[in-house]
Formats: sequence, C-alpha cells, structure tokens
Amino acid sequence: MENFIPLSIPNFEGNEKRYVNDAIMQGWVSTGGSYIEKLEKQLADFLKTDDVAACQSGTAALHLSLIDAGVGSGDVVIVPPLTFIAAVNPVKYQLAVPVFIDCDDSLCMDPQKLQCFCEKECSFENGRLTYRERPVKAIIVVHVFGNMADMELIMDTAARYGLKVIEDATEALGTYCLTGKFKGYYAGTIGDYGAFSFNGNKIITTGGGGAVTAKKKKNVEHIRYLSTQAKDDKQYYIHHEVGYNYRMTNLQAALGVAQMEKLPEFIRRKQKNYERYKELFDEFLLADLMEFREDIYSNKWFYSLKINKEKVKASMKYIIEVLQQEGIQTRAIWGLINEQKPYKGEDTYSLEKAPYYFSRVLNIPCSTQLTENEIVYVAERIKRVLWNLTDET
Ligand SMILES: *Cc1c(COP(=O)(O)O)cnc(C)c1O
Repeated sequence: MENFIPLSIPNFEGNEKRYVNDAIMQGWVSTGGSYIEKLEKQLADFLKTDDVAACQSGTAALHLSLIDAGVGSGDVVIVPPLTFIAAVNPVKYQLAVPVFIDCDDSLCMDPQKLQCFCEKECSFENGRLTYRERPVKAIIVVHVFGNMADMELIMDTAARYGLKVIEDATEALGTYCLTGKFKGYYAGTIGDYGAFSFNGNKIITTGGGGAVTAKKKKNVEHIRYLSTQAKDDKQYYIHHEVGYNYRMTNLQAALGVAQMEKLPEFIRRKQKNYERYKELFDEFLLADLMEFREDIYSNKWFYSLKINKEKVKASMKYIIEVLQQEGIQTRAIWGLINEQKPYKGEDTYSLEKAPYYFSRVLNIPCSTQLTENEIVYVAERIKRVLWNLTDET
C-alpha cells in the first residue's frame, strides 16, 4: 500500500552495513569475534555497570537469569500478567510456577499488591517465603513500553522476603531514575539481574539478540559461561555444568555496535515524536495518550493510546482493521498471559488494572523515522475513525 505507516520498524541509518561487512570480511560470523566484546563493553559503559553478557535473545537473557538465580522445579516466581509472554515462558522452562500479580497505572507491577501478596497470601518463616508450600524465589519485573516500575518499593519487598529480582528491561534500554534512592540508575541495573532484547522492533536491534547484566560481576561471568555451552576450556571439551547455545554471534554484535552508536539519537526521536503526539491528542475526548512516570527519564519506546470505551463502542479488533485500511498499522496490547492456554489455571492475585488496560490500550506507530506529516496524519485519522465509532455521529 502507498503511504503505509508501520507500527515500528528498525532504523539502519548508521554504520550497520560497514560493521556487518567487516565481520564477514574478517570471517568471524559466529559466537567468536571482536564485535561481541565491543558491544558488551558499550552496553556496560552506557548502563554504568561492571559487566554485560551478550546473548541470543531477550528470552535467553531471562532464562539465563532465572537459572543463575537458582530458580528450579516447583519454585514460585512472581510475574506480571500484562506483558509479552516471553517474560514468563522461561519460568516454565525451569519447571517453576508463576503467580500473576496485577499492574498499576504505569502498566508495570503494582508494588503495593506485591507487598500485600507476600504478607497476606504467603508465609514467612526462618527467612524463607512460601506460597502454598512452595518456596517463592524470585520476582520478574517488566518495565513496560520503556516506562519503569516503582523499583524502590519492589526492592524493599524483595529484601524483606529474601527474593531475587529479575528486571525485564527488554523494552527499556536507556530509561533511568531521576529521583530517589536509585537516582541515575538505569532500568535493568537495580535488581539482581537485568535482561535486554535487541529484537527487530526494540529500540536498538541486532536482528535477534539480547543481553544480561547483574548486580554482581561473578553472576554475569557465570551467565556468559552458561551461554557458551558451559565450556571450561578453550582447547579441550571439559564441562562442569549443563550449558546452552545462547551466545550472541559476531554478525549480530556488528549490527549492535552500530546501533549503540545511534541509541541516544533514537531515544531523542522517540521522545520528540511522543511529545508531538501528546500535543495532537491533547484534550481529545475519545482517547488519551498514556504518560510515562514523571520521576524517570524514559526511552519512550512504545506509545499507548487508552481508548475511552464508555464513548467508543466498537471492538479493538474493528478499530485496528479500519485503521489498517487507512494505511496505519496499530496493535492491541498483549492478551493476559494467565488467560493463555499454557497458563490457564495458574494462580493470580488481585487482577483489576491488567484486564482494564488490556481492553483499552492501542499501540500506535512509533518508529524513529516517523516524519512530522506522518505523525499528524496518524493522529488525525485515529481521531476521525474514533469519532465515527461513537454514538454521537
Ligand atoms: C521483546 C520482549 C522479550 C523477549 O525478547 P526477545 O529478544 O524477543 O526474545 C521479553 N519480554 C518483553 C517484555 C519483551 O517486550
């Protein structure tokens, strides 16, 4: 279609081709090569953390974090219901048991409900938290759409009950706290572990790829070791643990090094485009552009429109189809994970906001290449389409 505006596409305006070509010319395309370490160094410097291990995907980053955190069969992991399912699937890989806790208006985990769950639904004896006879080991906190969960309260609760915190910062590379105890700390560097993703639609991409950081350098080193088949020796095949083929390749890393050079620019554009949408949807009665928390610097990765369902009677599916015909790609927010087939029957706690936002949030185009004209076009069409779906017309 002419003038089709996609939801989110990668941006390769920098040195991507040069570096990938260089990696090919050097013959280093697989899990060895200088771009991998270069990317790890870039990420560590950017995030102001000691060490980062690059891996195959955000999912692998989360899986390796859970393994290193000692989460195993029958353990309970506290997770969010309203996010991409990859944040929770690694809990199942470890044969552990998820319990879903509600989000707040930031779309991230509600810290008060987390605290209540630990206090009222679990028992705490000899420094160990148990839920229905099972040990509670960890919390996976997702920083949804580049927003940030209230880490201060979450870390307090985790410390009180001896839980590991795994930050899913796959959508929040570049987001950091502006105030409070963690002022200046980047999303992913506050908890015990932080996972990042460089999938095609993330703020930077390596095609597919991810990274892990951890509060302690030795955990990052162990994760890097696990990701390279737990090889103890470069020459001889000696292994002391079950490893994984989760290491990032040099080809991916070459892309990543070029993308990291552009990250500050990508964030600036995401923020600028968000502000423009904000003006255009100001005082619009049928939908609000959702805000990011004020006490953070957000990468503003993804934009969420909250549809006023009391006025707009059409289904989300219908709205998306009409907009598609207008040349605008939009997307409904994720279906609740606890309602997906592999998770039916798992325990939930106090889910109110998650179903509320599930039925109202529409994600709108947010690529870094968006032009002023495109942003105006998107906003005007969305407004017109929604007006046409009210009773008042
Ligand atoms: C993208 C994403 C992941 C998974 O990352 P991949 O690199 O695609 O494996 C996990 N959690 C969330 C919230 C994501 O958005």
